[in-house]
Amino acid sequence: MNTLIDTYGRVHRNLRVSLTDRCNLRCTYCMPHDFAAWLPSEHQLTTDELVRVIEIAVSEGINEVRLTGGEPLLRPDIVEIVSRINAIENPPKLTMTTNALTLEKVAKPLVDAGLTRINISLDTLDRDRFKLMTHRDRIDDVFAGIKAAQDAGIDPIKINAVLLKGVNADEAPALLEWALANNLALRFIEQMPLDAGGIWERSSLVTADDIYADLSTRYELAPCDGRGSSPAEEFFVNGGPATVGIIGSVTRPFCGACDRLRLTSDGQLRSCLFSLEEMDLRTAMRNGASDEDIAARFRKTVAGKLPGHGINDPKFIQPQRPMSAIGG
Ligand code: SAM
Ligand code: SF4
Repeated sequence: MNTLIDTYGRVHRNLRVSLTDRCNLRCTYCMPHDFAAWLPSEHQLTTDELVRVIEIAVSEGINEVRLTGGEPLLRPDIVEIVSRINAIENPPKLTMTTNALTLEKVAKPLVDAGLTRINISLDTLDRDRFKLMTHRDRIDDVFAGIKAAQDAGIDPIKINAVLLKGVNADEAPALLEWALANNLALRFIEQMPLDAGGIWERSSLVTADDIYADLSTRYELAPCDGRGSSPAEEFFVNGGPATVGIIGSVTRPFCGACDRLRLTSDGQLRSCLFSLEEMDLRTAMRNGASDEDIAARFRKTVAGKLPGHGINDPKFIQPQRPMSAIGG
């Protein structure tokens, strides 16, 4: 069995695959509302190319693939993509991160194609705040998508929430109450400097400590053991079994345990969200690279991985690509 091990001893098992950089929302922390710098569509990997890269990644030791974007459900052949990944020899554990706007219609076909786990992003339960944060009046579609995922038997369903000061920072306890009542696993994510508009400011960050303190006013939280390579610190809520996760990407970096690689929708392999360098798999494939050439590119990318994301380093440089074009 091959392993993708870096110079710091981290074994890479997890590949995040962006299926598109397009999106039907405009979350302020991810994409400006008038964003138009889309990747050229001819640069987007075809489904054959995607499946080929994932097969090679699996043969190199990847055993978990997360489909993301942009919004992965905008890919018209999303059900076929899921089904083809599940048909790979030794298929990876497959999951998806989605805003769920169009999940209602495809939840059941996705489950039939083999999707068993999903993360749905929802930052607020309030219609006006949702509109303010996403520039679209579509919170009902998200609720319908969540219900369809539950009805289709997807389990677990995790909810990702980003809190912004002056917008929804007061909503952590209400989001947890709602998640507990609906059997959803909630995780809060600290806002990272990955927006295309350069709006991130450390002084306005809602930190993992802030979130923990706010939740503790209403709930008893006790740390769960066995975090492994998960970015989330998990806590039992009121003695469990329900849990809540807090991902302190900025203030409590977990780079030392990182096992992730990222493939952008235009076929660039990245060793970190914050990498300033990429490995071009698309051009290599289109120029006739063999599977071994592509596998060697995976190994080289892993070998060059830095020890950490460097957000807290004074010399930190934000990557050119916004979150939507890397794949969250
Ligand atoms: N469109 C899908 C969605 O929103 O779930 C998938 C892609 S999105 C980039 C994946 C995750 O990244 C979402 O949960 C989103 O909240 C998160 N995200 C986007 N920009 C972020 C940022 N600047 N900091 C922290 N998380 C961010
Ligand atoms: Fe779209 Fe997801 Fe970014 Fe929101 S976070 S703009 S839903 S890609």
